[in-house]
Amino acid sequence: MAVHGVAHAAEVLYAGLFAQQHRGQEGAGMVVSDGKLLHVHKGAGLVQEVFHGHRLSGLPGNLGIGHVRYSTCGAPRAQNVQPLVAECADGAWAIAHNGNLTNAGQLRRSYQQSGAIFQTSTDSEVLVHLLADPYYRSRVRRVGRALAELQGAYSFVLMTRDSVMAARDPYGFKPLVVGRLGEGYVFASETCALRQIGADYLREVEPGELITVNAKGLSSYRFAEPAARGAQCVFEMVYFARPDSMVFGYNVHQTRVAYGMRLASEHPVAADIVIPIPDSGMSAAIGYSRASGIPLDMGFIRNHYVGRTFIMPETGQRVAGLNLKLAVLPETVAGRRVIVVDDSIVRGNTVRQRVALLRACGATEVHVRISCPPTRRPCFYGIDFATETELAAAHREVEEIRVCIGADSLGYLSEEGLLAPFKDGPARFCRACFNGDYPVEVADRQGKLAMEPGAVAVPAEDTSEERT
Ligand code: SF4
Repeated sequence: MAVHGVAHAAEVLYAGLFAQQHRGQEGAGMVVSDGKLLHVHKGAGLVQEVFHGHRLSGLPGNLGIGHVRYSTCGAPRAQNVQPLVAECADGAWAIAHNGNLTNAGQLRRSYQQSGAIFQTSTDSEVLVHLLADPYYRSRVRRVGRALAELQGAYSFVLMTRDSVMAARDPYGFKPLVVGRLGEGYVFASETCALRQIGADYLREVEPGELITVNAKGLSSYRFAEPAARGAQCVFEMVYFARPDSMVFGYNVHQTRVAYGMRLASEHPVAADIVIPIPDSGMSAAIGYSRASGIPLDMGFIRNHYVGRTFIMPETGQRVAGLNLKLAVLPETVAGRRVIVVDDSIVRGNTVRQRVALLRACGATEVHVRISCPPTRRPCFYGIDFATETELAAAHREVEEIRVCIGADSLGYLSEEGLLAPFKDGPARFCRACFNGDYPVEVADRQGKLAMEPGAVAVPAEDTSEERT
């Protein structure tokens, strides 16, 4: 998120980050500028925790950027929390990144071989080095030239002491919007942040566009042509984004309701109640109930003091979180045929547990309906979808998965159903995790810890005698 030209930028960023907490729970931070100095505060934890007891008035300025971290590259540790800040030859820069760069490993190795030192194990840091590189520093439109070196998925916000910038990759993988707040401007991943701070939505940052806001106002240019084949992440619509956001021009809740309605027509079954997995299955369950005429009821109660388990970085945390997160209402499910609606099955551990819980509480039949197709391939563009071997659907047919999770029936939304709500451009969406058709070549497929210390073999110093 970024703001420019707003009073008390830190307070505005705080509110906007808070609204987007669902996008990352591991760390949070912000950098604001008073025109002379960049003021930084960041740390591990939720927005409220990181800024607890920290007076936002200690972060003066009317421009800044902020970030909530969900690690898809680099371990969940303090150094990797963004924004990243660097002192370059021409002044201080701060950057914050959403997405995954598919050529970051190559760029990093190349800079390291030239003697550069990296402070983090994230892919994002290569942009700092490109910005500092004299080759780009001396050229017009240097930021655009640096961005054009990157491949993969990125929505970036950047700042100097007096300007903020926002850029989106040519495929448009990740959402990024611009809004107006009084005389100032705001950039955010989701429109829910704009609404939270009272900003008006203007438009999306276009794929391949770099927008700069400074004392002269807003200016924009294309640093790359938009890719002929767009690749907006359809998983934002399925799970990631907040239901009250507009993402890629579509309301997320309404899209999920449409998924549920389509799911009911693709996979009908006789049952007594439809229950959602809260919160992610709620909108699709409403749609399923609406289209099937089967009443919607509350079968699970969610403990809101446990965060989003899908985006927890470690499997152990996810499993512990799952155990604490949901409780069944036996009064709702006992003696009934139940349809459970959820957004996706990734590893399968979640849904297996839930089916067993429902049976233990007296459900006579459990039918599972999933509002996206089987997740068969990993994501290399910014969603932490396990390795292929961990994915429940990577090498299993639907019937095998049904047996694994212990359900009476299992139905996934078709790929046609997934794209059906996007009347003006289904081809603009990435769905590689469902069909393996990756829109951008992935140079490094080494997983999210590939840049951790020790992950790359460093050649030992050559102590042999020099030969002439
Ligand atoms: S592979 Fe899946 S999760 Fe990754 S960007 Fe594409 S649609 Fe989104």
